[in-house]
Amino acid sequence: LEGYVGFDSITSQIEAKLLKRGFALNIMVVGQTGLGKSTLVNTLFSSHLIESKGRLESHEAVRKTTEIHPVSHLVIENGVKLRLNIVDTPGYGDQVNNDNCWDPIVKYIKDQHSAYLRKELTAMRDRYIADTRIHVCLFFINPTGHGLRPIDVAVMKKLSDVVNVVPVIAKSDSLTLDERDLFKERIRAEMQYNNIRVYPFDNEEYEDEERELNERIRALIPFAVVGSEKQVVIDGKSVRGRKNRYGVINVENENHCEFVYLRNFLTRTHLQDLIETTAHIHYEQFRSKQLLALKE
Ligand code: GDP
Ligand code: MG
Repeated sequence: LEGYVGFDSITSQIEAKLLKRGFALNIMVVGQTGLGKSTLVNTLFSSHLIESKGRLESHEAVRKTTEIHPVSHLVIENGVKLRLNIVDTPGYGDQVNNDNCWDPIVKYIKDQHSAYLRKELTAMRDRYIADTRIHVCLFFINPTGHGLRPIDVAVMKKLSDVVNVVPVIAKSDSLTLDERDLFKERIRAEMQYNNIRVYPFDNEEYEDEERELNERIRALIPFAVVGSEKQVVIDGKSVRGRKNRYGVINVENENHCEFVYLRNFLTRTHLQDLIETTAHIHYEQFRSKQLLALKE
């Protein structure tokens, strides 16, 4: 081992440090009122939830979201901490006049970038900047089977300029599996036609493995999800699910819906990439614009 200095141990040091600090993922949910946004969020994080801060939304009747507010959950899996900050937004497009209905949502995202930039510019004092930048925006699509409304296209476009957008088909239990696949194809075609740039994007640095994974994700998107806050009994076992006219849906069963795919995508395969893409692409774009404006 002549000449061995031992700096390769740095990787395990960094890893230990990162694991100790844990990760924070900021998720925003956007879509019409009643599409199951709050339900899905509660479903996503119920399994490993250990602590929740913020307003708890337990009574369905009184929880219609009227303003943008973050709720924070801490989940721990195998000793690794993940802090999930969920930003629920009021349903857009419910008004008679929907002009610029996306403004408050886009403003919220930009405000977080702006706050981060301010902290960065006055930095040095704080070693660690609390990060409220939105890493992923789950965009809920009405399961009509037809396609996107013009307003959805407009909002998706606005959002994809400033944040990682991941579309999901809401309440997909209202479609048969055939209808669901057709609908997914149609949505993908419409997004492409309208030049909507949805996450994940490839980057020169990616390895073949990451490219293949992203290819698979792009073929799956939009995730057809079902959410439920209730337990149902299937084959004598109590699972998170819903009863409907076709039978019983087990939210966690991949043959029933793509909830598990979405969860793996958010908290496993793309967690770090969502965070990095936000910092290196979306935030960087915002930052360079602001700094240019300062110089003028
Ligand atoms: P939000 O306004 O988008 O936050 O919608 P909510 O989460 O409050 O849900 C609105 C209603 O839809 C509630 O009665 C839910 O029980 C119901 N719901 C939520 N998710 C699903 C789903 O995946 N499938 C079906 N069929 N109903 C759902
Ligand atoms: Mg809600």
